[in-house]
Amino acid sequence: MQSTMMRTPLNVSHLLERCRLYFPTREIVSRLPDKSITRTTYAALYDRARRLAAALTRAGVTPGTPVGTLMWNSTWHMEAYFGIPVAGGVLHTLNLRLSPEDIAFIIADAGDRIVLVDDVLLPLWEKVRPLVTVDRVIVVPTSGAAVPDGYEDYEAFIAEDAGDFRYPDLDENAPAGMCYTSGTVGRPKGVVHSHRAIVLHALSVALPDCLDLSVHDSVFIVTPMFHVNAWGIPFAGAMVGCSLSLPGPHMGVEDLLDIMQAEQTTLALGVPTIWMAIQQALDREPDRWRLRRGMRMMVGGSAAAPTLIGALEDHGLAIKHGWGMTELTPVGTLSWLKPEHIDLPPAQQYEIRARQGLPIPLMELRIMGEDGPQPWDGTSVGELQVRGPIVTRGYHNQPDDAEKLTADGWFRTGDVATIDGEGYMRIADRTKDLVKSGGEWISSVDLENAIMGHPAVAEAAVIAVKHPRWDERPLAVVVTRPGEAVTGEDLRGFIAPRFAKWQLPDDFAFIEALPRTSTGKFQKTKLREMFHDWVSKTPG
Ligand code: ADP
Repeated sequence: MQSTMMRTPLNVSHLLERCRLYFPTREIVSRLPDKSITRTTYAALYDRARRLAAALTRAGVTPGTPVGTLMWNSTWHMEAYFGIPVAGGVLHTLNLRLSPEDIAFIIADAGDRIVLVDDVLLPLWEKVRPLVTVDRVIVVPTSGAAVPDGYEDYEAFIAEDAGDFRYPDLDENAPAGMCYTSGTVGRPKGVVHSHRAIVLHALSVALPDCLDLSVHDSVFIVTPMFHVNAWGIPFAGAMVGCSLSLPGPHMGVEDLLDIMQAEQTTLALGVPTIWMAIQQALDREPDRWRLRRGMRMMVGGSAAAPTLIGALEDHGLAIKHGWGMTELTPVGTLSWLKPEHIDLPPAQQYEIRARQGLPIPLMELRIMGEDGPQPWDGTSVGELQVRGPIVTRGYHNQPDDAEKLTADGWFRTGDVATIDGEGYMRIADRTKDLVKSGGEWISSVDLENAIMGHPAVAEAAVIAVKHPRWDERPLAVVVTRPGEAVTGEDLRGFIAPRFAKWQLPDDFAFIEALPRTSTGKFQKTKLREMFHDWVSKTPG
């Protein structure tokens, strides 16, 4: 029986062809630097992405050539998302919130020789330029101003019709995109996503229990397109033909809410810190914006507390919590309710939805302890390991990382988790963030979620501080809401019913704002530096 199915490779060009053939008039809306809105369609995206692909091919891009993008979320970035991979190139999104030194390191490590840069980001690029060797810098005139001398104009670069441009024959395992880990722990490392992984990921996240993505959706991509392919949504969006909105450089809460109202967004994507700020704006001015009722908001990147889910539900907005990593493509799990949960009281439903959830199809999960796989009982913790066609096998330019892959081929995430009897995974911590007190682990995520449930608290992060007897103790660093006051004592009492006594922090510090990483996560490395000399109040 040699004759089974066709060997048609899975690739990004299929997604591009599909959006032009079936959804040519669906819109892509983007905010420009001057705050005005520009509207285009998938038909125009198709035309311009192919012009870009043809121009890149003339410029020497061949299968496997990385092309850097230093760009905000915009229609131009969408063109790069498709134009680079369909030319056989590797879309290498550069994180514009990193330091010039880090960006230069990443460009050199990836080997980018051509870089597309938004004109409004030229001041940043000019700091990077002396530190790198690239052949061509193509400037995208997003502000409408003329491209400065010494740079190539993107519009001139893609001016020529794509003519009879043909997609190169690519193996489905060929590289399509690359992204560096955001370096929350350690130096950034390059992860290369294949065409196959991108297509399988798009199919999987679009499913009803996952993001329930359809042509009827109006999707707002707040997640930066330089952060792991904006969670793959530009690709999944083109596949289903939903309309897309992109914030450009304007990431202020009011700007975001204005777009959600104007475009009647049905699904928005971003990290918890964005949704916390949105919740606060809606609490302050509940009648200012008319948002689409039941709007879904996918949140990932760090944990979403049940209280955040409940508070946004009160505004008619539905959080969809997910977990992922650059090393996946990137979504690994999403939390959705099963039929047996539908009649549970809201608080219990929020608790289930606050778990990191069930693996999306094609992903497998397990938790490993020192003595092997741990039972799925919701309490046994172990290292979360994953396997599947959307998981990386290794890092760019690094020797095979025996540290990261187990002997039997699972990827070690560096996260510590539980899985319960129904299969829901819960992240307890990153291995490096766990607090080890008297030989027992304390989950910083659980403490943070509980503390953030207090009405006076805006944000909280828990880190380990040294203790002479217990080795480490948890220190809760708290930011209160404007005009609110609360003491460590109050917070300790508030969370006490949910924890064993030894897990409760004795140490609380109040600061103005938590330091954040380039992708909006609480930056625990910075907090650890700030509180390096903290003397724990726990008695010895
Ligand atoms: P970095 O490791 O540099 O932050 P990533 O953006 O790839 O880069 O982050 C992946 C990590 O973020 C995961 O390993 C996990 O620790 C954390 N993470 C992602 N989503 C969640 C979530 N929903 N809850 C808790 N942690 C999360």
